[in-house]
Formats: sequence, C-alpha cells, structure tokens
Amino acid sequence: MLSTMQDVPLLISRILEHGSTVHGTSQVTTWTGEGEPQRRSFAEIGARSAQLAHALRDDLGIAGDDRVATLMWNNGDHVEAYFAIPSMGAVLHTLNLRLPAEQLVWIVNHAADRVVIVNGSLIPLLAPLLPHLPTIEHVVVSGPGDRSALDGAAARVHEYEELLAGKPTAFDWPELDERQAAAMCYTSGTTGDPKGVVFSHRSVYLHSMQVNMAQSMGLTDQDTSLIVVPQFHVNAWGLPHATFMTGVNMLMPDRFLQPAPLAEMIESERPTHAAAVPTIWQGLLAELTAKPRDVSSLGQVTIGGSACPPSLMEAFDKLGMRVCHAWGMTETSPLGTVARPPAHVVGTDEEFAYRLTQGRFPTSVEARLRGPDGEQLPWDGESAGELEVRGPWIAGAYYGGAAGEPFRPDDKFSEDGWLKTGDVGTISPEGYLTLTDRAKDVIKSGGEWISSVELENALMSHPDVAEAAVVAVPDDKWGERPLATVVLKEGATADFETLRSFLADEAKIAKWQLPERWTVIGAVPKTSVGKFDKKVLRKQYADGELD
Ligand code: ADP
Repeated sequence: MLSTMQDVPLLISRILEHGSTVHGTSQVTTWTGEGEPQRRSFAEIGARSAQLAHALRDDLGIAGDDRVATLMWNNGDHVEAYFAIPSMGAVLHTLNLRLPAEQLVWIVNHAADRVVIVNGSLIPLLAPLLPHLPTIEHVVVSGPGDRSALDGAAARVHEYEELLAGKPTAFDWPELDERQAAAMCYTSGTTGDPKGVVFSHRSVYLHSMQVNMAQSMGLTDQDTSLIVVPQFHVNAWGLPHATFMTGVNMLMPDRFLQPAPLAEMIESERPTHAAAVPTIWQGLLAELTAKPRDVSSLGQVTIGGSACPPSLMEAFDKLGMRVCHAWGMTETSPLGTVARPPAHVVGTDEEFAYRLTQGRFPTSVEARLRGPDGEQLPWDGESAGELEVRGPWIAGAYYGGAAGEPFRPDDKFSEDGWLKTGDVGTISPEGYLTLTDRAKDVIKSGGEWISSVELENALMSHPDVAEAAVVAVPDDKWGERPLATVVLKEGATADFETLRSFLADEAKIAKWQLPERWTVIGAVPKTSVGKFDKKVLRKQYADGELD
C-alpha cells in the first residue's frame, strides 16, 4: 500500500526560502581585515541570491544543469552562490584554491564549468589558468582586488555587484527533481586524477538536518558559527545550508585565516561555535598561548578532517572551548560520525575517551568493517578492518567516467555498492568508531600494523613538541618501520632519546612500535585542506632529504 503523504521534493531553494524569511534577521558577517566587517541579514542574502540567479540566467545564459564554479574564500557572496546556483537548477562547483594549478585546470575542464565567480584577491591565481580553460565563458569578479590581470582574457569579465544591481529580489525557483545535481566537489586526488563527487538536493537537505541535530552540532538561532573550514572543503561541512535551516548566524573569515586575525575575530564577534581541521586549532592555540585573548564565547569547537590529538582537546577544554570530534570525507558529504559521549559516561572519567573516538554513526549512515579477506568483522571495539558505509548522503559513484557516465572504481566501492572509505579502525558495540589509520598510512612492520596516528598523538602530547607526523619507510628486515618527523616548539630542547623514553614510559607505546628513525623538521607539509601531507614526507625521505 502506498502512503497518503505528499511527495514534496527536498530542495535547496526551500532551505533558502525558509532561512531568508523565518530567520530573516540572522546574519552572515564577513571579516574584512580592517574597519567594520560586512554584515548581511539572511533576508538580504535571500534577495541577493535571487538577483544572482537572474543575472546568471538572463545575462550569462546559464540554463539546465550548467556548472558554475566558485574560486572564493568564505564570505557573504559565496553564501549567495551556494544558494542561487543550485536553486535555479544549475550545479555549484566549488574550486579548492590551494590545489596545484594543473589540478585546478584538470578539474574545471572535467566539470566543463561555464562561469567562474572569483574573489578579486584570487585573480592572480585564476588569470594565468584562463588560457587553459576553454569552457569558461564568463568570469564574475567579487570583492576587492586588482582586476588588471584579467585584461585581454578571452572570457567575458563582469563585476558581481554590477550584475546584481537592479535585478528582481525574488525568483520563481523551479520545482526540481530532488535527486538532481546541486553541487560538486573534487577529492584532492592523492592517487590518480581527482574524482568528482556530486551532491543532490536531497542529499544536501537530509545532511543539513543531521548537522542540526543535537547529537551532531545542535546549533540554534542563538548561536554564531565561525566557519573556518573552507566553503570549497566539502561544502564547509554542510554548515551554510544547515545554518539557513535553523537561523544560526555565520561568521566568515574571508581570506584572514591566520591565527592572529582568527583570535581577533573571536574576541570581537564572540562566536559560540567554530569548525576547522586540527592544524588551524594548533595554530590558534600557539597564538593564544603567546598572546591571550578573550575566547570565552566559544563554547563548542567542531574538529574533523584528521584525528584530533588528545593534547589539543585537553588544551581547548582548559580554555573553556569544548571540542567535539567528527569524522567524514568528501564522499560522505561529509558528516559520517560525531563524538558525543553516551549519557551513561557524561560527567565520569570515561567521558574523555569517548570524545576522542571519531564518534557515533547517525541513523542514516550505515557502517560495516571488512577484514583483509573481505570478511565482515564484529562491532566489538577490537576487530580492526576497513570501514565501509552507505546512506542517503554517501556517494555511490564518481562523476564523469570515460563515456560521461558515473563510474565506480573497485577500490572505492564494494560489489554491493557500499563506499570503501580507505580508513581502518574498530567499532564498539555502542556504534563508536575509532580509527587507527588510513589504510595507506598504516605502518606494516613484520606482519603487524603500527598506527601512525597513535604515535603522532603520543608525540604531540610531549610539552616540547609542536607537531609530529609519522610515516612508514622501507626497512630490509621488517618491511616497513616508522619514521618520526618532529617540529619542536620554539626554544624546546628535547632530544630523540628523551622523546623515545617519553613514548615508552609515559605514552605506554609497545617497545616494538617505537620509531628508531627520527628527524626534526621546520614544519609538517600540509595538503590543500590543511592536513598532514604524508605523501610529501615519504617522497622527501625517498629523496634523501630527511636523514
Ligand atoms: P582528502 O582525502 O583530500 O583528505 P577528505 O577531506 O575527503 O579529502 O578526507 C577524508 C579523510 O580524512 C577520511 O577518509 C579520513 O582518513 C580523514 N579524516 C577525516 N576526519 C577524520 C577524523 N576525525 N579522524 C581521523 N581521520 C579523519
């Protein structure tokens, strides 16, 4: 028997309409570096999104599922693009501005973007690429920055504000199929070419509802969220859409991502929540240690993208900023797990250990572990295997294979369509995920596995260590052994023998896992989204640069 419920599609235009009316007075505040920040109400964002959609359709000829790219920081204009482009039926393609030039070129050509909206400050990055981007017909420039590098470009160049000026502030958003493409992001392509993940209206809508649940971020219109995680990094973890559902104010750092301006914006705008990868918070912590600021407004900090070191969680707790650890990936939209401890440990000594896990799966993310021979492993908190997931906001394929069809590489999808995450770990009977490593980072020593993350976390809990990354290096006897690369804090004196003893005595690392190869480096190389780039470290070691 069919239900008698209405079959109303879950569309991003609905989120926009809702946010810009019911939460019309909530604000998007963009940091400008000097003077007053730019402030726009959700109502204004709604009106300007409608104007942008008119401009894209009427002036630039965007129609159907044309791709419109953004090369932008987190700011008010970018939020407008987030809503206008999918709501009109086109596809938002956020470009990662930290990717190497050749990857950006590959991605834009692969997606066949017709328009790119670029922040003025990023023109120096875009202009040299334009001759290699034949599908780009229009460049729309938003915000301050020298435009002269675009003189003579083959694409037509427009000013964002001029395009919007005088356009109607309402748009008759089409009633789309909820399964239609809304936005796309490419994974950073650590192996092979980047892969396009295409989010649907339905997946974004459902994912936003999950982000808003109390078991996830649980924010309300009394909150202000400092969204440091870039809008090009998996839709800023879904926050711009989720905030429009609930009226959470957004604080956008634009290009001011260094620790000092971040500390300044926290002190003056008093956000209650913030989201970013651990390296951003390590930087902020060092800044706050050197120059204390009032960060007391920041009650909750979401950390994800790579494992949160326990020392970072402890230090933030001491400052009154409660860390909530979460796991996800581009293919999972990204919300996969959130580490909210269960009621029975709240307020006990056990709570911290739960908060350090990657977290618990929500209803819509089904999970299973596979052992080396593909066998399913129990959720016993001990059996470690590769994590596979499925659900309504989990990718089931990548965009545009050879014949333009979605493609499902065997190493990424199981025969029955589950996503192979490439992450290795355990799941407890209560559904808490603990990742020990990425499959490609785990150190295989004499038939046993050593977790690089465990060694890193242990090292980073030593007071002299600012950052530490551990990678596998070839070893004649054991196959692989760990190499510890360590960044010491300024003025720190710890030597390798001290650190090794610390790992053994304080962190209780088993003797056979202790690294015998060590090196001090100036900084750990980072990926385009601020994670430790172990690929670079492995290469530096292979090239003899790390001895
Ligand atoms: P990239 O592969 O370019 O880093 P993603 O942002 O999609 O792109 O990264 C997803 C991966 O990041 C996950 O598969 C996992 O290895 C890692 N990751 C994300 N969050 C966490 C976390 N909380 N703890 C450990 N690893 C994490």
